[in-house]
Amino acid sequence: MMNCPNCHSENTRRSRRRGLREGMALRLKHQAPYRCTECGLRFIASDEATAADHHWVSIADYLGLIGKQRLAFSDHVILGGLTSLLLGLSIVLFFAVAFGWIEPSFLHRNAP
Ligand SMILES: [Zn+2]
Repeated sequence: MMNCPNCHSENTRRSRRRGLREGMALRLKHQAPYRCTECGLRFIASDEATAADHHWVSIADYLGLIGKQRLAFSDHVILGGLTSLLLGLSIVLFFAVAFGWIEPSFLHRNAP
């Protein structure tokens, strides 16, 4: 709970951010406006709730995964899946070139 800087009362509550600019500016600094219910002072203090909620936005969050999906597809799983996919593709590509399934033009540029 925030203490009022004027009367040091603990009877403060979160006040609504006034306008978009204040909202953005305060959010960036993890601050929020508070209102003292004792003396009515409006003051800016660090936003405990936002600071606690602030965490690294993971890949799963970007993909919009929620609930069970969010748990199943953690960043570890997604990155692991992408890595093995790339590894598999490069192995397939290697064998494709090695066995002549595909013929990249740069291999034949100097051929007669
Ligand atoms: Zn006060």
